[in-house]
Amino acid sequence: MGELLADHTTLRLGGPAHQFLTHTDPAAWPDVARSATGEGTAPFVLGGGSNTLAEDAGYPGTVIRMATRGATVRPLGDDLVEVVAQAGEPLSALVAFAVDQRLSGIEYLGGIPGTTGAAPVQNTGAYGQQISDTLTRVTAFDWHLERIVELRTAECGFGYRASAFKSQPGRWTILDITVCLTRSSSAAPVAYQHLADSLAVGLGARPPLAEAAQAVITDREQRGLALPDSGPDARQAGSVFLNPVITPVQAAAIRCADGPVHRDQSGSLRASAGWLLERCDYRPGGRIGPGVYCSTARTLTLTARESATATAFTSALRQLAAAVFEAYGIRLRPEPVRPGPSRGSSDGPGGPSHRGGAAGTDAFAPA
Ligand SMILES: Cc1cc2nc3c(=O)[nH]c(=O)nc-3n(C[C@H](O)[C@H](O)[C@H](O)COP(=O)(O)OP(=O)(O)OC[C@H]3O[C@@H](n4cnc5c(N)ncnc54)[C@H](O)[C@@H]3O)c2cc1C
Repeated sequence: MGELLADHTTLRLGGPAHQFLTHTDPAAWPDVARSATGEGTAPFVLGGGSNTLAEDAGYPGTVIRMATRGATVRPLGDDLVEVVAQAGEPLSALVAFAVDQRLSGIEYLGGIPGTTGAAPVQNTGAYGQQISDTLTRVTAFDWHLERIVELRTAECGFGYRASAFKSQPGRWTILDITVCLTRSSSAAPVAYQHLADSLAVGLGARPPLAEAAQAVITDREQRGLALPDSGPDARQAGSVFLNPVITPVQAAAIRCADGPVHRDQSGSLRASAGWLLERCDYRPGGRIGPGVYCSTARTLTLTARESATATAFTSALRQLAAAVFEAYGIRLRPEPVRPGPSRGSSDGPGGPSHRGGAAGTDAFAPA
């Protein structure tokens, strides 16, 4: 039997890959790419598996796990530096390195599981900061052109938890990313009210870098946003739904019910997916289906327990999305990616995959 995807995803779900390759040496990429080509299905690229819902049947093609490590710093003049990080470097390690070196710009991304190479895919973000704020360049293998390319930020199609990498699944494998950071012992301006409250500062304040980074880690642990090593919440992929785009009429109805509504960077109104689920009577710790529960800390995170399967997990997502659609007419889109035939993504920019696709997300609501 091939390598089980369950052994490489934080949900610990997923059957065998037809072929499983681990990429550890940047110089050996051409060999890895050559070994992965010739299959009918586009390779699926795996980082830390913390945003992946692999199928029980596994993956019929090649899975490439990105395990290249390390980051290098290049001074740019004045107080700016470029940090080039290998795709397999854990994002949390990159953040800790930057804070340790007194480099500001990614300090609010600490404690997010997964790799640096996956961060541009969903434009990973938290506490008012996202990787696209500082990312200047991505080096990627373009499976369409069959060569290594460099993409500048403007070519990455970034949006709220969206990018060209997400909307054209299987087209690019990110080999390294470059972020531009500022030499400073102060953090970037606080843009998230909850963080401002826990640091006892106002929005826009620039608290000491190390203190701000630690406040984020502590807050994540307290609010069930960290990945525990053990216990009922250990098998999870974080939030299971994106905060959905809503119409002004829906926003008015939610505000009337004291619900939170915010504008994303593109100006779209978004509701809180967690709030919508709680209005549909789902609660932390509640059982949704066989082996599938809301995490004990928050409704928006689903956890897998002993008997869970990927099929049961997917059914649970459908059940939650259907309840919200029935109550509010709002479609929820799952955040974790499912390796498999392309399901496209209308929540982000870009077009369809070039060759059948290697992953996708879909709206789990009645058509
Ligand atoms: C406890 C917990 C908390 C979380 N909190 C947050 C949060 O605050 N904010 C947030 O945005 N996310 C959060 N997440 C989700 C997840 O951690 C992030 O999205 C993370 O960036 C995914 O990294 P990964 O390496 O695990 O990705 P994976 O799950 O391995 O992959 C995710 C997607 O990226 C693609 N991919 C991975 N590596 C590459 C590469 N090198 N090139 C091309 N494509 C690639 C995969 O094919 C897949 O489509 C959380 C998850 C957990 C479990």
